Amino acid sequence: MKCSSRGKVYIVGAGPGDPELITLKGLKAIREADVIIVDRLVNPEILRYRRRGSEIIYVGKRPGDKGLSQDYINRLMEEYALKGLKVVRLKGGDPIVFGRGGEEMEYLSSRGVCFEVVPGVSSIYSVPIYAGVPVTHRRYSSSLLVVPGMEALDKEVRRVRLKEIGGKVDTIVVLMGVGSAGYIARELIEGGVDPRKPVAIIERGSYSDQRTILTTLECLQSSIDRLGVSPPAVIVIGDVVRLSRRLMWFGSSIYDLLDEGC
Ligand code: SAH
Repeated sequence: MKCSSRGKVYIVGAGPGDPELITLKGLKAIREADVIIVDRLVNPEILRYRRRGSEIIYVGKRPGDKGLSQDYINRLMEEYALKGLKVVRLKGGDPIVFGRGGEEMEYLSSRGVCFEVVPGVSSIYSVPIYAGVPVTHRRYSSSLLVVPGMEALDKEVRRVRLKEIGGKVDTIVVLMGVGSAGYIARELIEGGVDPRKPVAIIERGSYSDQRTILTTLECLQSSIDRLGVSPPAVIVIGDVVRLSRRLMWFGSSIYDLLDEGC
């Protein structure tokens, strides 16, 4: 890839929440950055490591609102890099997975702006393991499907055929799924998945106030309503969830509703 900017953009994954889950390379980028463009899901504690005088720009959006447009963010990164600055584009988890990192790379590349990518620890597997749920396990799960829950609500962009494929994998991880959990559960059950299939909902995974709820597919929506779960949360569906009872090692807010009805 050819690039000609004097400055450079580092697209960095900050990890899911626990600030120590950032990579050494990500930390180094933050320490050296002139400008840090931050998403909402990033734990602000990580910014403590930035050098004095660096600028922080928040561009995060909350569920439901649009936030600053992707165009605006793209231009911001470009502008600072053309000025010769070191720009860190800091995103929650891994910067690519459901994080638009790929689009930002395309934009920078098309404008001849130099960039590097620092992958991050994704919430896909790290949040479940902070609740004692290994997403793969030789005895219980050798396949993993990851879906964006929000997309399920938008008929125009709905691409994941949950009804057809949901029953063919051992573990399903849903990101951004709090608002669409009921729909997802119905699709899976209609597609043949056992309504009693164990489900874990992990809210604010790896933060000190993490909450873990163990429930079943048929009770997913009512458990969310009952406990007032709000984003960010990861939903894991599959037999591996049962392991949480034995393997839970982090956090103290655990609601085990697995053997209760809805
Ligand atoms: N790029 C991110 C995902 C962005 S999509 C990554 O690799 O992790 C945002 C979704 O990630 C949230 O809606 C939620 O489902 C999940 N998520 C991110 N951080 C989380 C956390 N600390 N606890 C629970 N879920 C989290």
